[in-house]
Amino acid sequence: MKCPFCSADDTQVIDSRVNDEGDSIRRRRRCAVCDKRFTTYETAELHLPQVVKQNGTREEFNREKLRSSFTRALHKRPVPTEYVDRAIEHIVQKILGQGEREIMARALGESVMHELKAMDKVAYIRFASVYRSFQDVDDFNNVIRDLDPPTHKKS
Ligand SMILES: [Zn+2]
Repeated sequence: MKCPFCSADDTQVIDSRVNDEGDSIRRRRRCAVCDKRFTTYETAELHLPQVVKQNGTREEFNREKLRSSFTRALHKRPVPTEYVDRAIEHIVQKILGQGEREIMARALGESVMHELKAMDKVAYIRFASVYRSFQDVDDFNNVIRDLDPPTHKKS
């Protein structure tokens, strides 16, 4: 790490201490060139990444959007809500575990497909057949909405 005083590249860690909660490390550093001391803190960054869409735009990762992908695919299927909760949790944990700042919408769609496969074959096929030709969860959601309108509008 560069010295913030003289910009020398060579600084040494002279003390490291983990805080009481165990989620942060405080380091005392000394610059080998100007001999000044400074402190840095190291914490884990557990932010959900930005989602990069097919057209290159970014948006915040959105749990509710993920949920709506599941509920549309699972429309009228006998699958308990807690299965969906668990699947969303799997996906979120996996994404956090990767520690990336961005994730492709496509990869997110693949994860949804993967979870659906274990959950309900019909929903999986429904999602996969539509999603594979669109590669974007938003497009998929729009198409599913059009394909499968609520019954009260059908008459
Ligand atoms: Zn220095």
